[in-house]
Amino acid sequence: MKAYVVEKEALSHNIELLQKMANGVPIWAVLKGNGYGIGVLPLARHLAEAGIDHFCVTEVREAELLRENGFEDDSILMLRSTGDPAELNRLMDLRVILTIGSWETACAINAIAAERADVVEAHLKIDTGMGRYGFLPEDMDHILGVYREQKNIAVSGVYTHFNCAFGSKKLTHQEFETFRKTVSAIREAGFETETVHCCNSSAFLRFPEMHCDGVRLGSAILGRVPFHTKLRPVGYAEAHVEELRVLPKGHPTGYGAMWTAREDTPVAIVPIGWYNGFRERCDGGITRFRDCLSLILRGLRGIFFRALPLVEVNGHKCRVVGQIGMLHIAVDVRGIECKPGDRVIVPINPLHVKGMKIQYR
Ligand SMILES: *Cc1c(COP(=O)(O)O)cnc(C)c1O
Repeated sequence: MKAYVVEKEALSHNIELLQKMANGVPIWAVLKGNGYGIGVLPLARHLAEAGIDHFCVTEVREAELLRENGFEDDSILMLRSTGDPAELNRLMDLRVILTIGSWETACAINAIAAERADVVEAHLKIDTGMGRYGFLPEDMDHILGVYREQKNIAVSGVYTHFNCAFGSKKLTHQEFETFRKTVSAIREAGFETETVHCCNSSAFLRFPEMHCDGVRLGSAILGRVPFHTKLRPVGYAEAHVEELRVLPKGHPTGYGAMWTAREDTPVAIVPIGWYNGFRERCDGGITRFRDCLSLILRGLRGIFFRALPLVEVNGHKCRVVGQIGMLHIAVDVRGIECKPGDRVIVPINPLHVKGMKIQYR
């Protein structure tokens, strides 16, 4: 038996802390990637209980889920700039705030809105370095063109997304400066910029001066950011011991016989493996030089000191021995009491979870 457990209390702790830090600036909760792995709707409901009524999505389906399940009046921002007519029509049906990242998309949106005799709300995206969606800051003619010429679009916000907010402070400051100048230029041309926003979780936590009129938070809500904070990491896998074995001295376990018992060793077999998202490294996939170094160091330490991944059996930290299997691990339970059915906690990032039910508790 296994499940992925989301502790409501940890989630609430994080939301409360983030709200305090936001100090009145609205939090736009990002629900992409199935709510960072813990479910769009349960996460949105939990956030709503804390008073959050601004959400960001990247899929039409996520917006549908919200609108069909009681989130009729909440603000929903689509983070992708899409010119796909089918997507745009559906997003307009759902009264989603669109993102405009290019002149072509602005034209597509305006044409569809005009056909529908509608005026649709949208935020302009500025590309200050991410190089995916967004107007280049130099492209002022088109940026202003949206305000001046696209009569079926009501621009209610301007934003950017930093590429390095977890890393280089200098680059992020430069990007912020570029963004600020672009916003000023729009204002100087006589237009209201309304909701100006640029912070994701890392920027929010590291640069309070950049909070502007809204902050887009995802990973911080789950307490999974690549530096120390008072946030609590949300989520862990829970499984139960299936069998208990004693591997005699000299007997290996797992593929490749990577580990061999040095003495008769009691081992618990637990039905969770890499398929479920259990990896030796549960990092956020960030590749700063510093992170690469720490990864290499951890690797070396693993080689020299046999640093094996840890799980918790009956509240005791225990080492996983042998290779992590697709759906199984073997856990060294020397020195602790353990029997079939006992509870095992396995640290897994919810983004990697597969093949397990999500349970909010
Ligand atoms: C994913 C995303 C966010 C949230 O990022 P976190 O670091 O998880 O807070 C914010 N803005 C945009 C545009 C995103 O794509």
